Formats: sequence, C-alpha cells, structure tokens
Amino acid sequence: MAKAAKTTRKREKKAPAPGRPTRAESEDAVRTLIRWAGDDPDREGLRATPSRVVRAFEEWFAGYRQDPHEFLNRTFSEVGGYDEMVVLRNIRFESHCEHHIAPIIGRVHIGYLPTNRVVGISKLARLIEVYAKRLQIQERLTAEIAHALNDVLRPQGVGVIVEASHECMTTRGVHKTDVTMVTSEMLGVFRTNSETRNEFLAAIGPARATRNGH
Ligand SMILES: [Zn+2]
Repeated sequence: MAKAAKTTRKREKKAPAPGRPTRAESEDAVRTLIRWAGDDPDREGLRATPSRVVRAFEEWFAGYRQDPHEFLNRTFSEVGGYDEMVVLRNIRFESHCEHHIAPIIGRVHIGYLPTNRVVGISKLARLIEVYAKRLQIQERLTAEIAHALNDVLRPQGVGVIVEASHECMTTRGVHKTDVTMVTSEMLGVFRTNSETRNEFLAAIGPARATRNGH
C-alpha cells in the first residue's frame, strides 16, 4: 500500500500540472500570436522564436514551482539578542503584469524588527524572486513578500515598499514614461508604531530619493 502511494507521488512529480499544455502546444500558441501581429512564423528569422519564447516563459515564471515558506523555514537563523531593525534596500526585481504580460521592473525595500529569527540577504532576494517570477500586480507582490516574511520569521513587524515602472504603461496605452508606482505593506509594529515606521522610511530614504527604478 505504502509502495503504491510512493510510486504515484513520483509519477505526479514528473507529470505536468493538471490542465498544463504541452511544450508543443505552447509553441503553437506563440506561432498564432506572431501571425496575429502580422508576421510569418515560418520565415527564417522567426523559426526558432516560439521555442525561445516558451523557454523564456519558463525563466520568467519559474516562481510558480517554488514555495518560499518552505525554503525560508529551512534557512532562518536564531539570533536571540539582536533586537534592532534589519533593513535591505534597493533589491532589483523583474516581474510581469498579469493584465498585459508586460515587464514590471523596479526595486524592493524590506525592513523587519526581529524577535529572534533573521534570514540572510540572498534568501530575501530569493523570496522576492519567487513572487516576482509569476504574473503579478504590484500590490499583491508587495503584500505576498511581507506576509511570507512575517509568517516565517514571526518578527515584531515587517515593512515592504516596492517602487516600479510598468512597461504596459510606458510602451502602450497612456505612454507615460516617467511614472513610478509605489506600494507598501506594513505589518505589526511597522503598522502600529509610527516611530518604527519612520525609522524604516528614514533608512530607505536615500535609496528612494535616487528615483533610479532601473
Ligand atoms: Zn499591465
């Protein structure tokens, strides 16, 4: 009985997610979009494009296959005693908006006030990647990063600020090139204590002043 269950689990791991199209079907969809744009997917320069686009999707949307709670739970360190704010600013990310699949490019600033758990810089960067490499809206990206960190580290509070430009706004539609969107999520003492929140905002202030979203 246990053996049968094991085999099933193994098979499930390799099988595509339910309803997930095959690679060939996905490449065909790209061919359709090329024809929709007005070009010929069979001309020489475009022949390898569908397979390249599908491979690019695997990279851009790799976040669906990772659970940040799982890897954060494996990697935090207990550091009883350190009770000052930890701030990481200017972490660059690339995501895609769920409305147009157009790039969202920007920076994340993270602060938290630990109880006794901290997590390394590279893990914070990876946490951002996992959520950025999905179809997103900036508000949800901001909230997901803050809540994942809050769930795992159980700090006194978390603050996350995201500043980004949306290429669906700069290259189409309203064509506003210099607009940066700023979103924030404040949890725990970052929400309830204005002194803590101001300390965080002061720490990332110089970074925000550069306005260098890319
Ligand atoms: Zn968009």
